[in-house]
Amino acid sequence: MELHRNYVGGEWVEGASVAGDVNPSDLSDVIGEYAMGDAEQVDAAVEAAAAAAPAWAAATPAERFTALEKIGLELAARAEELGTQLSREEGKPRAEGIAEAQRAAWIFRYFAGEALRIAGEHIRSVRPGVDVDVLREPLGVVGVITPWNFPLAIPAWKIAPALAYGNAVVFKPAQLVPASAWSLTEIISRAGLPPGTFNLVNGSGSRVGDALVRHPNVRGVTFTGSQAVGREVALACAGRFAKVQLEMGGKNPLVVLDDADLDVAVDCAIQGAFFQTGQRCTASSRLIVTAGIHDRFVEAMVEAMKRLRVGHALEEGTQIGPVVDEGQLKQDLDYLQIGLAEGAELAFGGERLERETEGYFLQPALLVETRNDMRVNREEIFGPIATVIRVADAEEALAVANDTEYGLSAGVCTTSLKHAARFRDGLQAGVVTVNLPTAGVDFHVPFGGTKGSSMGSREQGRYAIEFFTQVKTAYTRP
Ligand code: NAP
Ligand code: MG
Repeated sequence: MELHRNYVGGEWVEGASVAGDVNPSDLSDVIGEYAMGDAEQVDAAVEAAAAAAPAWAAATPAERFTALEKIGLELAARAEELGTQLSREEGKPRAEGIAEAQRAAWIFRYFAGEALRIAGEHIRSVRPGVDVDVLREPLGVVGVITPWNFPLAIPAWKIAPALAYGNAVVFKPAQLVPASAWSLTEIISRAGLPPGTFNLVNGSGSRVGDALVRHPNVRGVTFTGSQAVGREVALACAGRFAKVQLEMGGKNPLVVLDDADLDVAVDCAIQGAFFQTGQRCTASSRLIVTAGIHDRFVEAMVEAMKRLRVGHALEEGTQIGPVVDEGQLKQDLDYLQIGLAEGAELAFGGERLERETEGYFLQPALLVETRNDMRVNREEIFGPIATVIRVADAEEALAVANDTEYGLSAGVCTTSLKHAARFRDGLQAGVVTVNLPTAGVDFHVPFGGTKGSSMGSREQGRYAIEFFTQVKTAYTRP
C-alpha cells in the first residue's frame, strides 16, 4: 500500500511511524497508510513556516485570492470523490460527506474574497501634523489542530482564513481522519503557495499536537476539540503568551414548548440529536419539553426513530452511519448505563446493531424522565443519544436550558413570536436557533460558543479576522 507522507517545507516526507486508516462502517476496509510525525518533524515544519511567513505576509491580495480560489475550485470539482472518501473514513452518510466537501470549497472561495478586503483605518491624530493608521498584520506561524468529526470543513475554516490573512500554517489533523487531511494538503500543495507556507504534520495529539502548541515560534493556535484537551492547549499557550482560539464541546438544549408545531419539533430533534450519529459539537443532546406537549412529543419521537435507517455510510438510503471508533462506541454505551443507573428510562434504542459488514453501528437512543442534574445531562456524550427533560413551562425551560457549563448552541420550537424573541435573547449560547435544528450552520457568518464551549474570538465569516490578524497602530509625521 502506498504511504501518504507528511508535507514539510514544500517536500513530502516520511514520519517516525506509519498508521492505517480504518473504515468504521467496515473494519476490513483500510483506506490507506499515513505517515505519523513526531516533535522533531514539528520543529522542522515550524522552522519552514517561519522562514516562509515574511514572503506570504508580503504577497499581494490578488496572489492570495488566486491561491485560495484555486483550492476552492478544485475542492468543488472533486466534492463527490472527496466526500465519499470522507464518509468512508469518518462514517457520516455519503451525501453528508459530499455536502461537507462542497462546504469546504465554499469556505476557501469565501476567504479568497476576504483576502481582497483586508482593511485598516486611517484617522487624524489629536496631535497636529500627525497621521494615525490602524493596520491589520498576520500573526506569523499559526498552528491548526482539528477534531475528527468534520475532517474537511473544520480544517478549511481554520486554514483558509489563516492563509487569506497572510499567515503560514502548520496543520495537525485528528489521527482518525488522515485521508481527508492528506487530500486537502495535496490540493493546497499545488495552489502556488511559496514552499513552507503550508505544512502537514499528521500524528498523535500527545506528541505532534503538544509539540506544536508549545513551540516558541508558533504565534497562534486555533484548536477545535474536547474541553479536556482545549484546557491543556490554552494553558500551554498562556504560558508563552501565544494567541489561542478554542472551540470545544456542548450540551446543547433544544426546548420544545406547548405551542410548538409537533412535526417541526420532532424533525428538529431527530436531525439535531441523531444525524451524523450525534457526533457534532452542536448536537441537540438535551430535549427540554414542557408538560402540555411532553407525552405527544416523546411518542412521535419514538415513531420517527423506528424509521431511521442506520447502516454502512456508503450505502444508498443510510441516514445514520456508524460511531467513529471503538472508544467512542464504548463511551456511548457507558453513558446509556450511567443514565439508566441514575434513574432515566429508555424510551427507544441503544442496541448495538449487526450489519453485513463489521462496524460500530448503534441504534439512536432516547432517555426520558431525566433530570438536568444527571451526568447524562451534564457531560458531553458525543453519540446518538438524547435525553428528554420534562419542565412545567417556558420560564422553567429557559432556566434548565441555561443550567449548564457549556454554551455552544441552543434552540427553541414554538409558534409564538413572543416566546421566540424571549428565548433568542435569553438562551446563553453562541448560536441560537428558532424552529431549526441546533446543528447545521452557514459558512459565511460567525460560529462559536459562550461559557465553557469556547475561548477567544469567533471563527468563520468576517469575524475570523480577529484571530488571524493582529493590530498595529502607526503614527506618522509626514
Ligand atoms: P480531542 O480528543 O480533544 O482532539 C482534538 C485534536 O486535538 C485532535 O487532533 C487531537 O489529536 C489533538 N490533541 C489531543 N491531545 C492533544 C494535546 N495534548 N495537545 C495538542 N493537541 C492534542 O477531540 P476529538 O475527539 O477529536 O473531537 C471531539 C470533540 O470535539 C468533542 O468534544 C466536540 O464537541 C468537539 N468539537 C467542537 C466543535 C466546535 O466547533 N465547538 C466542532 C467539532 C467538534 P488526536 O486525537 O489525533 O490524538
Ligand atoms: Mg479524541
